[in-house]
Amino acid sequence: MADCIFCKIAAGEVPSQKVYEDDSVIAFKDLSPQAPVHVLIVPKKHIRSAADFAAEDKELAAHIFVDVVPKLAADLGVTDAGFRLVLNTGDDGGQTVPHLHVHLLGGRKMTWPPG
Ligand code: AMP
Ligand code: ZN
Repeated sequence: MADCIFCKIAAGEVPSQKVYEDDSVIAFKDLSPQAPVHVLIVPKKHIRSAADFAAEDKELAAHIFVDVVPKLAADLGVTDAGFRLVLNTGDDGGQTVPHLHVHLLGGRKMTWPPG
C-alpha cells in the first residue's frame, strides 16, 4: 500500500534491521526498543489491524503464531526465559502504525498491567 512504512520495509524500499523473512512475513528490530529484545513481526500483505483479518488470512495468522514466533523466540534466545507478544489494535489499543504487526519483547522481566 502506498505511503505505508511497513509495506515499504517489506518491499525493501526502506531499510530495516531484518531478523527474519519468508514469502509472507518479515520481522525486524523496532526502531525504539522497549526491551533488550524487541522485534516486529509483520505480514507482507497490508492488513490494517487485527480487526481487519479476513477469512483468507487464516493461514497467514497461523503461520505467524505457529511457525514464526517460536522460531524467532528461539533464534533470539528468549524461549526459556519467556517473552511477551503485543498486538496493539486501533487508537485505544495504542496502534500507531496502521499495518498489522506483532511485537515480540524479551530479555527483561515484563510488568503487568500495561499502561
Ligand atoms: P504500534 O504502536 O503497536 O503501532 O507500534 C509501532 C512500532 O513501530 C513502534 O514501536 C515504533 O517504534 C516502530 N517503528 C515505527 N517505524 C519503524 C521503522 N521504520 N522501523 C522499525 N520500527 C519502527
Ligand atoms: Zn502496509
